[in-house]
Parts: sequence; C-alpha cells; structure tokens
Amino acid sequence: MNFTDFGFTTELQNGLDAMGFNKPTPIQEMAIPIIQEGHDLIACAQTGTGKTAAYVLPILDRIARSDHSHLNTLIIAPTRELAQQIDQQIEGFSYFLQVSSIPIYGGGDGMIWEQQKRALREGADIIIATPGRLLSMMASDDVNFEYLQHLILDEADRMLDMGFYDDILRIIKMLPAKHQTLLFSATMPQKIQTIASKILKHPKQISLATSQPAEKIHQEFYFVNMDQKLPMTIDILKNPAYESIIIFSSSKENTKKLNTDLKKAGVKASAFHSDLEQKEREELMRNFKSRNIRVLVGTDVLSRGIDVEGVSLVINYDAPHDPEDYIHRIGRTARAEESGVAITLITQNDFQRFQRIEKLIGKTLLPSPLPEHIGVSPVFNSTTRSKRPQRKPASKGNGSTSNNRKPNG
Ligand code: AMP
Repeated sequence: MNFTDFGFTTELQNGLDAMGFNKPTPIQEMAIPIIQEGHDLIACAQTGTGKTAAYVLPILDRIARSDHSHLNTLIIAPTRELAQQIDQQIEGFSYFLQVSSIPIYGGGDGMIWEQQKRALREGADIIIATPGRLLSMMASDDVNFEYLQHLILDEADRMLDMGFYDDILRIIKMLPAKHQTLLFSATMPQKIQTIASKILKHPKQISLATSQPAEKIHQEFYFVNMDQKLPMTIDILKNPAYESIIIFSSSKENTKKLNTDLKKAGVKASAFHSDLEQKEREELMRNFKSRNIRVLVGTDVLSRGIDVEGVSLVINYDAPHDPEDYIHRIGRTARAEESGVAITLITQNDFQRFQRIEKLIGKTLLPSPLPEHIGVSPVFNSTTRSKRPQRKPASKGNGSTSNNRKPNG
C-alpha cells in the first residue's frame, strides 16, 4: 500500500513526499480509512508506530478540502513535549496547505500564556492541548468550540495515569455533542475502556500487538549490585557507535545525581527534569535532536511521546516501576524504520520489576554477563533460571561486551 491510495489532496501528498514518508505504517494503513469514513475509533498503538500521522493525515486532508474558518480539531495530549511534537508533525505535513495549528500547554512564563491566548483569539484549525492548560483557557473564554469536528485523545492511558480523567470529562462536556472522536492509547486497561464507552459512539477498534517492544530493538539486561551501576553505565557510554543516548532514572533527584556523577567521570551529559524552565527544556531537546548533546539523562517524562529520531541507545539506569513504562522507554529507540539497543540494569530491588517485564513481553529474558572489570553479576534470591550470569571470559571480545556492542547488533 502507498500513501497515494488514500487519495489525499495533492498539497498534502506533496507534504508527505517532502517529509520522506513513502509507505504507510501498519497503524496508518488500518486507521486512515476508518477515520476517512467518519467512524469513531479506539486504537491501541504505542508511540513509534506512526500513530500521530495516522490521525493527523486524514484530518488535515478533510480540513484542507473544507471551507475552514473555525476551530475544527482538538487534540488532547498528556505532556507539553508531546503537544509540541504533534504540532511539529502537523506543521511538516501541512507545509503546502493553508492549515494552522497551535500547541496550548502549561509551564513557561506569562508571555507564553499571552501568546497562546492571542493565537487562540486569532483562530486556528487545530489545537493541541494539555488538559490543565486547556481548562484554564476555556475558563477565560478564549476558545470557541462551536464548530468542532474532531476530538483526539492521544496517549489516553498516560493521561489517566497522570490523573487527568476528570479534566478530560469536564473538557468533553463543554464540546458540541456531534464530533468524531479518536482515542489512541498504548495500553487498554479497564479504565480506558470505561472512558471510551462514555465518550465514543459505536467506535471501530484496532489494535497493534500491544505491549510488545518494536522488533528492531535489541534488548539487553544486566544483573548488577548498586555500586556496579555507575561504572557499568560509563563503560557502555564509551562505545562510540552509540551516537545518541537516553538514560532513564527513576526520579528527578536521581536524574540530577546521575548527571553530576557522569560529569565527574568525564562524560558529557545533560539532565532533563521538571525543575527546568520550559525554555531550558526546549533548548535541551533541540540540542539533543541536533546531536549537540550525546547523552540525555531523564525521568519517565522523556519516555512517552517525545519524538527524537535515531536514538541509538536507551539505558534503563533505574528499572522502570511499571512494565508498560519499559515499553515506552525503549520505544525511544528503533523508531519507524530504524533499529536500536535498550540496556536495562537490574538490582536485587528491581528483580520483581524485571519479572513483570518478562511477563508482559511473554519471554524469559536472560541477563548478559558483565565485563570482567565491572565484576561479577549478583545472583538474585528468587531467581530459578538455569543460566546464571557469569563473569565474561577475559580475552574474548564477543558481541556481549559493552564496548563491542553494536547498535544494530
Ligand atoms: P509516532 O508513533 O507518531 O510518534 O511516530 C514515530 C516516528 O515515525 C515519527 O518520527 C514519524 O515522523 C515517523 N513516521 C511515522 N509514519 C511514518 C511513515 N509512514 N514513514 C516514515 N516515517 C514515519
């Protein structure tokens, strides 16, 4: 199947060509015709599958064909980073179209609030908003939803995890009754199905094999003692084949500490966390995307929806609390057509989390041996595996040593 099969306007097709989109991804093949037919939709798809274009393209096409002088589409997303990223994709696709979009998100200073309000008053076809900021804007009467045609909830599971359930229902109550609603979620827990049954009308459902990491991600696990985490990480970072790296830690404090420890060890890294000003965050992301920053350390804020292309390595310095977060974190690598590596360090305290990841993935995951200079892997109490991590043979530089590991390996 090709994008031309969807019969998009020439200008939109030109935008796709300019962005180098040749073949639709599976979620796009499935979702675009359903959206074009006007159905409500529940789509279970992780980030990295091309889900944004799956809903943005048919909507842009419809707006471009209409006499559009009113707010047409509301996209609600959990984080400002995701909102900005969706906005950037829309800008790219609509390069040859007369369609406008505004991201509306919290944080930043009063000037940004004023800019967003002004942009709203001046009108746009598409708003991409985080729930809290949108409610504030709606309270100040700056948004007119009278002509709204489409509502999209992106990363719905994440929004519910972040406590936006009531906010979302409040927003939806203020929208006109008749519109097409599309709900995208990486997972489909019961609470998503409950909200879906409240807000969608006879929805079509599509599901990509859920909760599975992209096939092109090479996953490795190391059992480590706490004091082996930092040296192991530094060792991994020595491999120049990894050009763009995200390291996940479990909290803002740990992120800052790890960043400092890496710096002390002579590793150039930057920390991404919620204490940073919005401007600083944006600058960090820009520098990371343009490869001026090689190593970015952050919390799970980085794990959802942030579209950084070509991340060659994800390190889970602290194991994720939730196995779904594991999928989201490692989804930062091997986006669309690329491949990547994900390395997870597991301590005794993380062992149950490791087992939950195994359960979710449905596979027994064998830990790799540590390089000799890092020491011997600990053996965890509740493990019943037959294959224990062993000390790596001293002289053999086989594929499982960190410095010989290739991102495509
Ligand atoms: P998403 O899952 O929407 O976050 O998209 C992941 C990445 O894949 C983004 O960088 C998109 O620009 C890219 N992408 C999405 N669809 C395609 C496609 N059909 N061809 C090439 N790249 C794509």
